[in-house]
Amino acid sequence: MSTAKILILPGDGIGPEVSAEAEKVLQALRADHGFDAEWTHGLIGGAAFDATGEPLPAATLEVARTSDAVLLAAVGGPKYDLAPRDKRPERGLLGIRAALGLYANLRPAILFPELAAASSLKPELVSDLDILIVRELTGGIYFGEPRGIREEGGQRIGFNTEVYSEREIERIARTGFEAARLRSKRLCSIDKHNVLESSELWRETVIRVGQEFADVQLSHQYVDNAAMQLVRAPKQFDVIVTSNLFGDILSDIAAQLTGSIGMLPSASLNERGQGMYEPIHGSAPDIAGKNLANPLAMILSVAMLLRYSLKRSDLADRVSAAVRRVLASGLRTADIARAGEAKIGTREMGDAVVVALA
Ligand code: NAD
Repeated sequence: MSTAKILILPGDGIGPEVSAEAEKVLQALRADHGFDAEWTHGLIGGAAFDATGEPLPAATLEVARTSDAVLLAAVGGPKYDLAPRDKRPERGLLGIRAALGLYANLRPAILFPELAAASSLKPELVSDLDILIVRELTGGIYFGEPRGIREEGGQRIGFNTEVYSEREIERIARTGFEAARLRSKRLCSIDKHNVLESSELWRETVIRVGQEFADVQLSHQYVDNAAMQLVRAPKQFDVIVTSNLFGDILSDIAAQLTGSIGMLPSASLNERGQGMYEPIHGSAPDIAGKNLANPLAMILSVAMLLRYSLKRSDLADRVSAAVRRVLASGLRTADIARAGEAKIGTREMGDAVVVALA
């Protein structure tokens, strides 16, 4: 690959703080580990609204379109709660996802053994947990037509439509199988095949696509059972593939299993392999500007960017190993420290990861 082009979008709240730490990691990779990349910064969310009057300026989108990957921290804050709906920071986020055609959302739930006590489940159930949820992001009931609220018989009726084409299912199924191939070669497809016609088509299509992936073991679960299994015995899963609505709910359950929102990255990919990488947390206005935010979710987003868009698994593994080493050495930001444990700040955590990379 020629020089990789990355667009960094710090956004709002703790966004600029955690972005700065991710950038330190990129710099260290470029200086010492043969990483050929250049990056620029852009505006999105409230910061973009303040500067330009738009939460997603055209200039940001233009650079995003020509970049190999976008690294976004977080948007939003109470300051923008009263802004017109189409100018709110979240519009910037939804806008860039739609404009880039990011149809596949990859959300790992990883629990480093050192943090097992942070989970709401017993440590032995979750220690070393490492699952990946592949969620369809641009279809299903969140976008299906018809939708609305109508008057009928003197009362209002709200309605939405769960709709999936074979093409949409094939595309996300392939992403799931390919992700499973990079891991333990097990894929569980989650649907509601016993009740929904859209799930019938989902299951049929996933099975058909599975014939191209004979090396991946495919299983199926109903979503209600999957929700139960995720909190009963989560380590039975490796890669899960599911629809937009089911994925939205299941990925939050999986995130909660790890107990630490400041640790989880995510990736959203399009058909050209371009991706947007972001921590799952928001802009955390309550701790912004205080050097309190955990930058590890953002740094692990860099690892995903290296793996999925830049095809540099070697560097991705190096970043993950550095994070592991830092945690093993006992360093903790406030959100992952147990009572009585010493705490370090955002910048110190970023510096520690850079040292551990060496
Ligand atoms: P949040 O994720 O910002 O914060 C929830 C809680 O987790 C807070 O107590 C916060 O301090 C803590 N937290 C979050 N990230 C942390 C980190 N890296 N280190 C340590 N602690 C961390 O969610 P919220 O409070 O519901 O939302 C705040 C703002 O963020 C809102 O404006 C919301 O719309 C926005 N938001 C943006 C995104 C995004 O950009 N993708 C996602 C969710 C929420």
